[in-house]
Amino acid sequence: MTGPIFVTRFAPSPTGFLHRGHAYSALTAFVAAQLARGRFLLRIEDLDRTRCRPEFVTAIEEDLAWIGTAWDQPVRRQSHHLDAYSAALASLEAKGLLYRCFKTRSDLESQIAGAPHGAMDAYRGAPLPATEEARRVSAGEPYAWRLSLAAAERALGGFAGLTFAVEGEGFVQARPQLGGDVVLARKDGAMAYHLACVVDDALQGVTHVIRGVDLAEAAHVQRLLQALLDLPTPVYRHHRLLTGPDGKRLAKRDRAETLRDLRGRGMTAAELRGEMGFD
Ligand code: GLU
Repeated sequence: MTGPIFVTRFAPSPTGFLHRGHAYSALTAFVAAQLARGRFLLRIEDLDRTRCRPEFVTAIEEDLAWIGTAWDQPVRRQSHHLDAYSAALASLEAKGLLYRCFKTRSDLESQIAGAPHGAMDAYRGAPLPATEEARRVSAGEPYAWRLSLAAAERALGGFAGLTFAVEGEGFVQARPQLGGDVVLARKDGAMAYHLACVVDDALQGVTHVIRGVDLAEAAHVQRLLQALLDLPTPVYRHHRLLTGPDGKRLAKRDRAETLRDLRGRGMTAAELRGEMGFD
């Protein structure tokens, strides 16, 4: 027997209540799964212990049920699967693709302020000389693990072979340089989003990643990680972002926009879905 050929997911971080933008994203993925007679999964991306709260997980499930989505069980909670991400990190390290980064936020900020384009996320660095690194490790200085684009490029013989399918765009050439040497494990020990995301998309058999266009760039580094970890590459679909009356994209800080506020004001789920063009 073969598995479903269409598996998609909604992967919120429980750092606040869901708003209209999340509802749009979840419904887009849910409806796509229904049309394809596929599966719709829920994944709770709760790796950031400082920002995620369990009460938001309960609220997310309530709100998603209210808007009319239903997801397959079990729900994957990333904080329950840290071993899977540590194993992926260790395998990249064993291949010489990572380096320790001891830089502080202010080091990075001053480095970026002096850089021509000033992009925080396009950081490129290099491992420290072995003796200095050993000294700082034994002194207990905290460090993050970064993916070395230079080492990845050598390992793969260049990035030209890295392509991925984006619905509506065809095959796209991956440009992991956009993200720079991304952090895969943070100084506080938390695994970073990109690593957990590619590991889980593969473990959960996700065939279609449907998410906002704000994450379009993430697909480039995730495609690289899939190649380095020997994981399959899903098809990507990037949907538009909803904007508020001021024309700016909705964000968690816009408290008035949460789904529970809309519900409290008497809005029905059918009205919300209709407003967003579903049904
Ligand atoms: N957890 C991410 C977020 O809430 C979404 C990740 C994804 O869909 O890949 O923005």
